[in-house]
Amino acid sequence: PDNITVQELANRMAVRGAEVVKTLMRSGVMATINQAIDADTAELVVAEFGQKVKRVSDADVEEGIEGIVDQAGDLRPRAPVVTVMGHVDHGKTSLLDALRESNVVKGEAGGITQHIGAYRVDIGHGMPVAFIDTPGHAAFTSMRARGASVTDVVVLVVAADDGVMPQTVEAIRHAKAAGVPIVVAINKMDKPEANPERVKTELLNHEVVVEDYGGEVLAVPVSAVARTGIDKLIEALQLQAELLDLKANPERDAQGTIVEAELDRGRGAVATVLVQNGTLKVGDIVIAGAQWGRVRALVDDRGAPVEQAGPSTPVEILGLDGVPEPGDKLWVVDNEKRARDVAEYRQRKKREQSQLGAAAARGTTLEDMF
Ligand code: GDP
Ligand code: MG
Repeated sequence: PDNITVQELANRMAVRGAEVVKTLMRSGVMATINQAIDADTAELVVAEFGQKVKRVSDADVEEGIEGIVDQAGDLRPRAPVVTVMGHVDHGKTSLLDALRESNVVKGEAGGITQHIGAYRVDIGHGMPVAFIDTPGHAAFTSMRARGASVTDVVVLVVAADDGVMPQTVEAIRHAKAAGVPIVVAINKMDKPEANPERVKTELLNHEVVVEDYGGEVLAVPVSAVARTGIDKLIEALQLQAELLDLKANPERDAQGTIVEAELDRGRGAVATVLVQNGTLKVGDIVIAGAQWGRVRALVDDRGAPVEQAGPSTPVEILGLDGVPEPGDKLWVVDNEKRARDVAEYRQRKKREQSQLGAAAARGTTLEDMF
């Protein structure tokens, strides 16, 4: 059953908390303003105040937001979204740097990219490739735990001088659990002691069978420091994307996932969203988790303002009324009222959950209250 704290109920009826406590007391229910009462009790209280009850369910508020179904004829190929994983010190950060700099489509500011949590690499032929700019497994698993799947392909970085290590195995497990294909980057090939054959045989023990061994996993020797093999790695990712037949409908309202977000002193709430379907435009009304807003500006991964962002494009978004959380889904909705309703509803739910959590932490149970 849905529970609500006395304070929240009072807020919703626009009456003082103490009035609700008193009314409850008259009905024989002893509850402080921070305690939760069940929906039936709340309904009685509302009736006592002569107000109408409208029980709103998740479905009522949120239905329709995820409702668009794409027709096959509207779908177009889209860029793959890639997360880099691997053992510590095997070169994840170095590889992400090398990839970013391999971009032939340089920005005006001397090709300096800004760090907005994700970026796209375009090597001039084939599909661009979008990279999530946070290496490591935590981001991947926490996003997935929240039901957000943004990654199409995992680049597994294995140092050629070190071979398969515990976090390599962990990364393989994560990718397999998520059903996401792996492309192996055998890194540090510039080192004299590099031994790519050893890496490939060690991977066999973990059911990662590269092409040389009759498997389907693409493996590319690279050096993040010497900047070799980077284009070959991109090409492997393009090939993998083709095999996956990744598609999206650029013509519809945007849907995406928040990759990172923060409160910026000058600009307010700033969130990096990875657009997954549709096209996000300046002026769109969006909901991101429990926040909403009208898109005031979009900034691409090179710091340039853009009017719109299509599928598999990371973009910074300004204009949200608060800071959403990584993993939150973003949707475009028809009108401000709807956006505000859903955002307020979600905020209320979050507040109630944390209040209920706090009550539970204090050792208060529903039985204690009645
Ligand atoms: P991460 O922990 O996986 O993010 O690894 P880093 O990118 O921080 O790299 C760890 C160390 O390995 C750093 O000292 C890098 O300079 C070095 N390194 C990374 N890639 C290469 C490479 O291709 N060749 C060589 N020789 N060193 C590398
Ligand atoms: Mg690192």
